[in-house]
Amino acid sequence: MSRKLLLGLDIGGSKIEARLCEVIYDESGQYQFYNRTKELNSLNSLAVSRIPTQRDLGHDNVMSRLKELIKQVCVDANVELNDLSGIGIGLPGSVDPETGIMINGNSKIFIDQDIRKDIQSIFSIDIDIQIANDANCFALAESICGAGKEYFLETGVNYSGQIGLGIILGTGTGGGLIYKGDIFSGRDGGALEVGHSLLVTDGSPCYCGRAGCAEEYLSGPAIQSSHPDKLPSLEIFKRAEDGNDLELQIINTYKDHLVNFLTNLTNLYNPHFMVLGGGVSNQDTIYNGLEESIKENSFLKGKSPKIYKHQISDSAGVLGAIFLLKEKLNL
Ligand SMILES: [Zn+2]
Repeated sequence: MSRKLLLGLDIGGSKIEARLCEVIYDESGQYQFYNRTKELNSLNSLAVSRIPTQRDLGHDNVMSRLKELIKQVCVDANVELNDLSGIGIGLPGSVDPETGIMINGNSKIFIDQDIRKDIQSIFSIDIDIQIANDANCFALAESICGAGKEYFLETGVNYSGQIGLGIILGTGTGGGLIYKGDIFSGRDGGALEVGHSLLVTDGSPCYCGRAGCAEEYLSGPAIQSSHPDKLPSLEIFKRAEDGNDLELQIINTYKDHLVNFLTNLTNLYNPHFMVLGGGVSNQDTIYNGLEESIKENSFLKGKSPKIYKHQISDSAGVLGAIFLLKEKLNL
């Protein structure tokens, strides 16, 4: 048995989560989970802490509180910073796979900032720091120990043979593609910015400069803004469930958009499965008939993907950030 200590940071627009984990290896030196013989308990969580991002206070303020957060989880886990083997970070935007720098996203304070260098200089440590888009981290975690595992148990096709898509339906709409074990980032980290693919011709204007982007129809705020009284999306789902006509109509329109969106992705990537995350994905009603509708509409009839609700709790993002350190995990 040997162990390594890894720190994951999920830096979002509204909160930051830090999780310090120890990875246990079995006698053969293999990370046990990869062999699907054990549950995730071979990645032991030693300490977890969350803080609000408060991005309106600016980049320097966030970085100084991030520093305190990292120190705190080390204290809580009773380990020294120098004992860490690596840090994985998820950021809310497109991240250049080479430099780890966020190129675009709606949390502007992180754009063009070299967070890897900042952390290394704040703590005067030379440590392996891997950074990726948060939707990619979600997709990676779900592929390794969530939806990908479910798919394996159902079909026998394991992680290294799977093509899986993780789709976030939350404050924004994003996506990540895991192709046979690896994140597909594109040249500059801009791949799978699916929230900015056209869904409605001449539709609502989007902050990216286009109009009719998927995010304008599939995010939580989009549901809210489609209601005449701008009710919160949760309330709209509840009223629809209670049989109110207006809200039912809004949710049915939402579901139609979702079918079109996921069918487009099916025709583009022909994945084994798609897994949905983010606040809207907690609404069971969106799954009613979803897989069947995609099956009917997709180009390869009868070959459409399995659709899963997220299998890992809120922590998929931070676990995915840890999984970015794949060399440290023998993944
Ligand atoms: Zn857009």
